[in-house]
Amino acid sequence: MIRVEYQAAVPDWVRRTIDAFIISIVPRAEGLLVLGKIDLSREPDGSGLSLRADGTFNGEHRELCLEDREIADPRYQEADWDKRRRELVRGAVLDLLGLKLPWGILTGVRPSKLYRHLQQAGFSPEEIATKLQEVYRLSPEKAALLQEIDSVQAPFMRAEPDGIGVYVGIPFCPTRCRYCSFPAYPLGTHGHLVAGFLRGLAEEIRFFAEFCRNNGLRVQTVYVGGGTPTSLVPGDFGRLLMALRAFSTEDDMEFTVEAGRPETVTPEHLQACLDWGVNRISVNPQTLHDRTLQRIGRCHTSADIFAAVARVREARIAVLNMDLIAGSPGETTRDLDETLDQILTLAPENLTIHTLAPKRAAQWDEEQFQEGMADPELADWLEQAGQRIRQAGWRPYYLYRQRRIMANQENIGYAVPGRESLYNIWMMEETKTVLGLGGGAITKWVDQRTGSVERWSNPKCPATYGQRISASLPEKAKWLRAHLN
Ligand code: SF4
Repeated sequence: MIRVEYQAAVPDWVRRTIDAFIISIVPRAEGLLVLGKIDLSREPDGSGLSLRADGTFNGEHRELCLEDREIADPRYQEADWDKRRRELVRGAVLDLLGLKLPWGILTGVRPSKLYRHLQQAGFSPEEIATKLQEVYRLSPEKAALLQEIDSVQAPFMRAEPDGIGVYVGIPFCPTRCRYCSFPAYPLGTHGHLVAGFLRGLAEEIRFFAEFCRNNGLRVQTVYVGGGTPTSLVPGDFGRLLMALRAFSTEDDMEFTVEAGRPETVTPEHLQACLDWGVNRISVNPQTLHDRTLQRIGRCHTSADIFAAVARVREARIAVLNMDLIAGSPGETTRDLDETLDQILTLAPENLTIHTLAPKRAAQWDEEQFQEGMADPELADWLEQAGQRIRQAGWRPYYLYRQRRIMANQENIGYAVPGRESLYNIWMMEETKTVLGLGGGAITKWVDQRTGSVERWSNPKCPATYGQRISASLPEKAKWLRAHLN
């Protein structure tokens, strides 16, 4: 972990910017940055920003004088000046640390939002590519990746104005993976909460299905996640899918079920998926090495994954997604290659490559995260894997980043052309409203005119959810109605 010591007084916003930036980038880097001073000013003639700073990192002293004249372009708004002050500070920190990072000074979850912001400001693709590399310091590969994803997403951004998505959180899993930070309660210790949780969820689904009908909202995609929804017994699982059809009976509604743990994908669960029109399912190996599966706290083997995929294929569910995690402690590039080879042979229509991100809510401690492969090796593997996946016929269609993600990388969703998930694009890009139901679900109301996002969170704990959700429904509906009007 990099620590910062301030020798001179700095404004609060500068300190907050530096501290947040340091926490986000390369979590496994070590050292002490002693910051002498940092002065930032806006030129009185409006010609740009300038910054002077000096500091010492691990014994190496640097003095900086940075300028941003580019912000004076009339296509920028006044609000952009404020953002660029913070971005100049982040650039100074990178220079003082002597670091070049793949994503440069960007720390946000959704770098493609910056791409769209620059597009909407009127900059051409060529200008954006230059800015991403020169102003935001992205590597040429990451700048090209953003452009590639933007072109794939363009048709999905022209969706109908009354279209929304629905997310349903089922916060139970067979066991808890050691890297997990999601609301996922092990059934062995929390199984007694399932019945109360499902009673509350049935009520929330009925209430908001009616709300959507009464307010002209057309549900185009439903995503059942969590947790592991298929860890519910088949009867409960089938009743849940049936209830969700109250949002739409249209065959073309995208209907996804997370079946992350392969041992939970039984023929009865798949029959319920077929009965209620599920057309996308996610079986997530993360790795196909049994020793890593054990190490990450899963209670199944790679053979279970192959068996679950065979059952999904037999059931002819249109789209299969599979997730892989790069950077797990103890895994080598050879292990990752072997897993990727086998996944490509299984040919899922969607393939998501995650990079591990150490989280506070995870069971692993910092030391265990240090045991993953070195950052440069991991970054090289991800780059080469991306090329292999493209050559095999998939293309990247969405990406998101996480705080403290290893090797300053990202998570990328790849799809066979024409099999992209509408939900993933809407949710990750925050371009359309997604109504969140169930445990820990977050409703994101997106204003289609301004792009601003308002959030409403459901209780994470299934016991609290079961007890309180009924009483909170009128208030949540009032909040939604206020945004509709
Ligand atoms: S399967 Fe997913 S939600 Fe469940 S514990 Fe593992 S990472 Fe968390």
